[in-house]
Amino acid sequence: MVRKKIKGTLLFDGITPATLHSEAAAAAEILRRGGLVAFPTETVYGLGGDALNAQAVAKIFRAKGRPQDNPLIVHIYEAEQMRELAAEIPAAAWLLAEHFWPGPLTLVLPKQPHVPPETTGGLDSVAIRLPAHPTALALLRAAALPVAGPSANTSGRPSPTTADHVLEDLAGRIEAVLDGGPCPVGVESTVLDLRGGIPRILRPGGITPEQISQVLQRECELAHWVQSSPAAPPSPGLKYTHYAPRAPLYLLRGEPERQLAKLQQLQQEWQQQGKRVGLLVSAESAAALQGTDIISLGSRRRPAEIAARLFAALREFDARQVDVILAEGYSTDGVGLALMNRLEKAAGHRVIEVG
Ligand code: AMP
Ligand code: MG
Repeated sequence: MVRKKIKGTLLFDGITPATLHSEAAAAAEILRRGGLVAFPTETVYGLGGDALNAQAVAKIFRAKGRPQDNPLIVHIYEAEQMRELAAEIPAAAWLLAEHFWPGPLTLVLPKQPHVPPETTGGLDSVAIRLPAHPTALALLRAAALPVAGPSANTSGRPSPTTADHVLEDLAGRIEAVLDGGPCPVGVESTVLDLRGGIPRILRPGGITPEQISQVLQRECELAHWVQSSPAAPPSPGLKYTHYAPRAPLYLLRGEPERQLAKLQQLQQEWQQQGKRVGLLVSAESAAALQGTDIISLGSRRRPAEIAARLFAALREFDARQVDVILAEGYSTDGVGLALMNRLEKAAGHRVIEVG
């Protein structure tokens, strides 16, 4: 067990199964006093605060620089705690909880009156998730509180998948970080709205639409919203830019061979203009490319691996101070849907179709 302070933030490092419970208890005490503790989950690191304490929640928004109307996901350690947070719980919620919790699925339900508006961004609904990470579960159990936990990054930056990423953004702004190593899923949870007739995916994530449809024995829909729309977005998160590295990122879309040709062409053109070009590609493309700033995310045949490494790679290009990033696009099957959603957000409107 190692505890050190980095710019005033306490880092719980080197946690082992033997020390997990005492470390979690110490961190839980910080939460119970209204402080903020970043913790690992299977998706990304979360920034935890007591979800029923409006002041603790206000601190989360301040530390992240998050817009006030973007609601937080509330983390629980057993499905029964849904009753404490949600005013109505349809059978579909229990069924999905049974299949996918602990895991990367967030359910949006009508909120109980005592859940503060600060937590829900003023909405009358609450987003709930039970994470699958031993450190997160030990913390939540020891705190015995529902814990609000958005991604533990500065708003707009790539989400953190290691304790170092959290410290990069938030050291000195929060009380503590629990280091649980790199996050295995690496993209955030699927956010599913269960309030209407048809289950609606507000954000694609670690659990795929196919998996949800199979359990519910019905289709679910994907929420669509564009910036120019006069209507309010179905989820406030849809209207904010996200996951942006410092350099502009261009995303390619189309057949892999055509993408490769375009990657080579643009790399050459931009290098001739004196730019340092970062290439964010599959292992297959990396093998055919030349240059120093190539990050291979893994084989195109294993999109889950690519998703798990994406955010760390974006931060790595920030550290290398590249001038521009060119990213390969992938199929939207399975977890590819979440992967492409994050890449599209990181790209803003800079998408290049190669047919
Ligand atoms: P993050 O905390 O970074 O994982 O983001 C949480 C996401 O869940 C954001 O996109 C929010 O807009 C969305 N979210 C949280 N609570 C609700 C809610 N009650 N209704 C709709 N979307 C929500
Ligand atoms: Mg986030």
